[in-house]
Amino acid sequence: MKKTLCMLLAAAALLPAAACAQPVEPDLSAYEDVSGMAEIPIEILGELDEETREDLVAAPKYVALTFDDGPRADTTARLLDGLLERGASATFFVIGEQVPCNKELLRRMKAEGHQIGNHTYSHVRLLTADKDAVIEEVHKAETLLKEAVGEGSFWLRPPYGLIGSERSRLIQTPMIYWSVDPQDWKLLNKDKVVAAVLEAVQPGDIILLHDFYSTSVDAALEIIDRLQKEGYDFVTVEELFRIQGVTPQAGVLYARPDRIRNVS
Ligand SMILES: [Zn+2]
Repeated sequence: MKKTLCMLLAAAALLPAAACAQPVEPDLSAYEDVSGMAEIPIEILGELDEETREDLVAAPKYVALTFDDGPRADTTARLLDGLLERGASATFFVIGEQVPCNKELLRRMKAEGHQIGNHTYSHVRLLTADKDAVIEEVHKAETLLKEAVGEGSFWLRPPYGLIGSERSRLIQTPMIYWSVDPQDWKLLNKDKVVAAVLEAVQPGDIILLHDFYSTSVDAALEIIDRLQKEGYDFVTVEELFRIQGVTPQAGVLYARPDRIRNVS
């Protein structure tokens, strides 16, 4: 688009230049006298040159892949290999009980730029758990995570996405829901999971998957391959908030950085 406009301006500048020895500043008011000039931008937009078209396609669209219920030694390790190969980041909401046996895997996640979040110690339904149990489930998982990967803020994803307004007031970190759920745990079919995500995904989305299932790992890697070709960039949830200029608040459940999920 810019190139075409430059050519038009250059052509306008050439007209007086033919009659004058000194370069003359183009008289842009002359454009007002030319009938139909107002339509030119529309014509230009309709005639994007190949280079501009490629630039637009390459403009980054950010999306966050999130994986619940891990880590699981074999599937999570394979996923990390695939993410590394593709230069993609992700967020893992891990179950506390599985932390002690998978410390190395968690350290690898952190070292490779992924975000680690809390999915409670034993995957409880926080909505119906006693308040003391809510605090204990979250705290226990957090303590194990700190032992494994060091200090940090481990954002919470309530199991099943369920937590009431009363219990969410007990949570001292942001809480992350999702905006795309292909139900990978139910489908257990790579192609169907890929199709469900590709049909729904928009820039800024948070996609829910489970690294516990081999079919979901396969699906995730294909989703990355397909969406990277469309100009998508895979970032952590924390990065997605930062990119969109949103500071997440403790005890609030976000479906995306720009969308809060009502918990009451
Ligand atoms: Zn879960």
